[in-house]
Amino acid sequence: MTTETIAGVSRPVPTDLLIGGKWVAGSGGDRFDVTDPADGTTLCTVADATAADATAAIDAAYAVLPELAAMPPRRRAEILRTAFEVMTERLDDIALLMVRENGKALADAKAEATYAAEFFRWYAEEAVRIDGNYTTAPAGTNKILVTRQPVRVALLITPWNFPAAMATRKWGPAIAAGCPTILKPAAETPLTALLIAEILTDAGLPAGAVNVLPSSKAAPISETALADFRVRKLSFTGSTKVGQGLLKLSADNVVNTSMELGGNAPFLVFADADLDAAVDGAMLAKLRNGGEACTAANRFYVEESIADRFADKLASAMGSMSMGRGDDDGVKLGPLVNEATVDKVDRLVKDAISGGARALVGGKRPDGAGFCYPATVLVDVPEKADCLTEEIFGPVAPIVSFSSEAVRQANDTPYGLVAYLYTGDLGRGLRVSESLECGMVGINRGVISDPAAPFGGMKQSGIGREGAHDGLLEFLETKYVAFTP
Ligand code: NAP
Repeated sequence: MTTETIAGVSRPVPTDLLIGGKWVAGSGGDRFDVTDPADGTTLCTVADATAADATAAIDAAYAVLPELAAMPPRRRAEILRTAFEVMTERLDDIALLMVRENGKALADAKAEATYAAEFFRWYAEEAVRIDGNYTTAPAGTNKILVTRQPVRVALLITPWNFPAAMATRKWGPAIAAGCPTILKPAAETPLTALLIAEILTDAGLPAGAVNVLPSSKAAPISETALADFRVRKLSFTGSTKVGQGLLKLSADNVVNTSMELGGNAPFLVFADADLDAAVDGAMLAKLRNGGEACTAANRFYVEESIADRFADKLASAMGSMSMGRGDDDGVKLGPLVNEATVDKVDRLVKDAISGGARALVGGKRPDGAGFCYPATVLVDVPEKADCLTEEIFGPVAPIVSFSSEAVRQANDTPYGLVAYLYTGDLGRGLRVSESLECGMVGINRGVISDPAAPFGGMKQSGIGREGAHDGLLEFLETKYVAFTP
């Protein structure tokens, strides 16, 4: 087993593939670099999985399927509970590892590690609540027995922005349901998933139940897995564009899919809102994870009469965010994950400014090493600006004032993950929530994620839900048995 010592992380971090319970170098023997976004240096190298490794992982997962599916739910629950407890003991290591490979600020990393561990606790509790039904057919001729079975071998693909939580949000329900898994983490952030996989295997899962395939070439892995009839589930979190390609690949074998895709969240502030609370909520909704969140507020629609005051207050709060290496003292805004992300944010800001927008704070790419971009507030943003239609994925808040058309503007996007709204009138909040075309709404709240709540989107933001009992159902098939007693 190859491991690496990462500064500040107290235990060695596995850097091999995990296949069939063994840490292996992979069939090609190649390795790829993991970069520290704070300075662009190489942190370490990781084994680079190939299509042959994907097949080996499917073999291992398929072999353990009968054992895992037949394992008493209480035992699966106990394994998840143990994983929750060990993960909680190791939160600081997991958080620092995310600071190193993803760049996020330490407070964001700690919050994510806690949130991620909670998925193991929640699904430990859900594993023993897989229900069924037993009824009499209306004609009285027979009985209707409905049970649930694991959907079988599952391919899990996760993004780099939440390296811990996006993995545990899939592993938790998959294990609770009895599904063996093959996880392909993002190439930018494979280390966190490897460290958590070690916790899961140590917690008592049989060999092959959790396989992890870091890879610099994602397509051969997904193409191999989705062409293999033994893989019956794809649970993907990432961009809509990649998700669309994976849905097409899943079509041939009619693979059961759960898709958590991109967002373009509107943040609505009505004139009767508590302005300071709205600014606090905006800071959370915009700057949690440095803006690199699918739930990040992407567009602010503020009622005309309060738009200037809201913008000034937000600019003052955003301007106070100190930027730098995620675990340096006082740093609240870490670097973005890579140079391409900084390029994109910079392009979106320049596009808005060339169309007439003004930056109240930030708006200029800094010089120097690392992939930083400052917290930025834009006003007078033209309706056609790219930052209103594309996912920004950075610390930029474009503000548009509205007089009456906020809901139309909020819904004017192919995305539909989450929306936020601030108002002093709960009745209006509920009415507007119903007309917003998205899977989740925060009323007078800037954070909505919770392992006990169904997370997911409408329109091109996805199919299915993660978290809550709904997340467990994504890994279960319904079986109906008709019989006459
Ligand atoms: P991405 O480029 O779509 O990548 C996501 C994952 O897919 C990565 O592991 C990536 O591997 C892999 N991938 C890329 N091409 C693939 C292919 N052809 N076959 C199989 N896998 C492939 O997204 P990202 O940039 O990592 O993450 C940001 C996106 O995720 C944003 O759009 C964000 O909104 C979305 N997101 C959504 C949610 C949600 O719950 N709805 C949560 C978090 C993030 P490589 O790293 O090797 O490219």
